[in-house]
Amino acid sequence: MSYLRCNVRTCSNNQNDLCIREGIQVDGPTADNKDDTCCNSFTQRAENYSNVVSRHTSAEPETAIQCDAVNCSYNKEYKCMAPSVDISGSAASTSRETRCSTFDCKKTL
Ligand code: SF4
Repeated sequence: MSYLRCNVRTCSNNQNDLCIREGIQVDGPTADNKDDTCCNSFTQRAENYSNVVSRHTSAEPETAIQCDAVNCSYNKEYKCMAPSVDISGSAASTSRETRCSTFDCKKTL
């Protein structure tokens, strides 16, 4: 589990910069920089629609992260081992417009 901060407020899972999901999926199997990663659990918030689930669920700061970005130094067998993770993309309307800002490439480029 990682402490997850997320500024993607256009996502229906976002509640005060935390995520209401118990776990998220980060994508980026060939990524060698953070812009090639994204949060696959992004779900666009409908306009003028506050999240129905969030009214009944409190987001917890710790979130399990499954991650395909195998070139990241925090990736261990498709799980994120970073103590804290920042997901960004404040104006995202698709998952591809989000990114894991904590990505740390273990390859020497
Ligand atoms: S820090 Fe690395 S392993 Fe963790 S979610 Fe981001 S890209 Fe994946």
